[in-house]
Amino acid sequence: MIEKTLKSIEPFTSSAEKNSRFCIGCGEPATKLVKYSTIGAIIIEKYCDKCADAIKQS
Ligand SMILES: [Zn+2]
Repeated sequence: MIEKTLKSIEPFTSSAEKNSRFCIGCGEPATKLVKYSTIGAIIIEKYCDKCADAIKQS
C-alpha cells in the first residue's frame, strides 16, 4: 500500500463535481474532495460530509 498524507479537505466547487461520484466510504452522495499527497502525486478521493469529518478527526 502506498503511504499517503492528508493534504486538504475541500468542498466541491461545481455542480458537475457534485453529480459525478458517491462517497467511497459509505455510498452517500459525495460533497467533499479529500486530497492526499504521496510520493510524486496527489490523490483525490470523494467523501460525504460525515466521512470527511471522520477523516479530519482521525
Ligand atoms: Zn460517506
